[in-house]
Amino acid sequence: MIEVSSKEAAKLLKNAQCVMITAHKNPDGDALGSCLGLKRALQNLGKKADVYIDDHIVSNYQILPGIEAIKQAYPTECFYDLCVVLDCEVERTGGSAAFVAQNHLPVLNIDHHESNPKNADYLLLEPHSAATGEIVYNVIKEMGNLFDYEVATAVYTAIATDCGFFRYANTKPSTMLAAAEMLNYGVQPHKISERLEERSYEELKAQAKIIESIRLEGDGKIALAMADKAMVESCETTEGFVDIARFLRGVDVSVFLKYVSENMTRVSMRSKDTNVAAVAESLGGGGHQRAAGCTLQEDLPAAAEVIVVALKAAMELDKNAD
Ligand code: 5GP
Ligand code: MN
Repeated sequence: MIEVSSKEAAKLLKNAQCVMITAHKNPDGDALGSCLGLKRALQNLGKKADVYIDDHIVSNYQILPGIEAIKQAYPTECFYDLCVVLDCEVERTGGSAAFVAQNHLPVLNIDHHESNPKNADYLLLEPHSAATGEIVYNVIKEMGNLFDYEVATAVYTAIATDCGFFRYANTKPSTMLAAAEMLNYGVQPHKISERLEERSYEELKAQAKIIESIRLEGDGKIALAMADKAMVESCETTEGFVDIARFLRGVDVSVFLKYVSENMTRVSMRSKDTNVAAVAESLGGGGHQRAAGCTLQEDLPAAAEVIVVALKAAMELDKNAD
């Protein structure tokens, strides 16, 4: 593994001719925006590039130019000379991991997760960046300022979504400056947030059920909300559900548990204080100090139990350390 700077990453990209770009399953704005922004920038340099995402893409992201060209099936022959893995490690990309291994493709991994296992061939890891999109912005700059409206829309979306539209603790001057620069290429922030916030009637109604399901634990410091099978099936996306209980006074950690199958539950956590990345990592997941997740081989009630015990232990540890 070789750690690279954004300048060195730009050089690797400039030396490549045909680039495969990929990101994590259950792709969010940062994953998709980073992939599409980098793809378009490489095309602006005359390179060939394709984006592969091994999962369903939520329709709200259709605002991103080039989204329709994202590939979900892998070719039988490999004509790429580099694979760029964005916003996660290669293991979390699903099918791309197998394709890369099969074809011995060198991997340039660009990420901002502290929990990254650092096993790529080339690694550009910046845990202090609010979004992978912020690192991609620097790389595109280093490649020769390859911005246009399409690149800017993708990079702006990547940055804005991962810092809660500039409200979260990861928002720094560099975050705002990079996003502000994208507005010079015609990006309209209100258009992007309006489209990303859009929900179906069923999805909006589901939020009422989420609020109904909220349960407090740990002296009101932990809020749990759950989506059962029926609710998950009625919603194309549950993005944002974990944020609902964050607003509760006194709550440190908001947890959202989502039905996957009878013995599998997806867990999302957001915190004001407790390091939820450490809790997620201890349960096989990962993420950031204030936003993390994992998947548990348990049904909803049992998963809730596991999370509450782990969070209480983490909070107890923090209390003793103070
Ligand atoms: P979310 O709750 O939005 O799914 O994820 C919050 C953050 O934690 C994101 O940065 C996401 O990439 C990371 N994350 C969520 N689930 C996992 C997981 O299972 N493993 C790892 N390594 N990171 C995760
Ligand atoms: Mn991210």
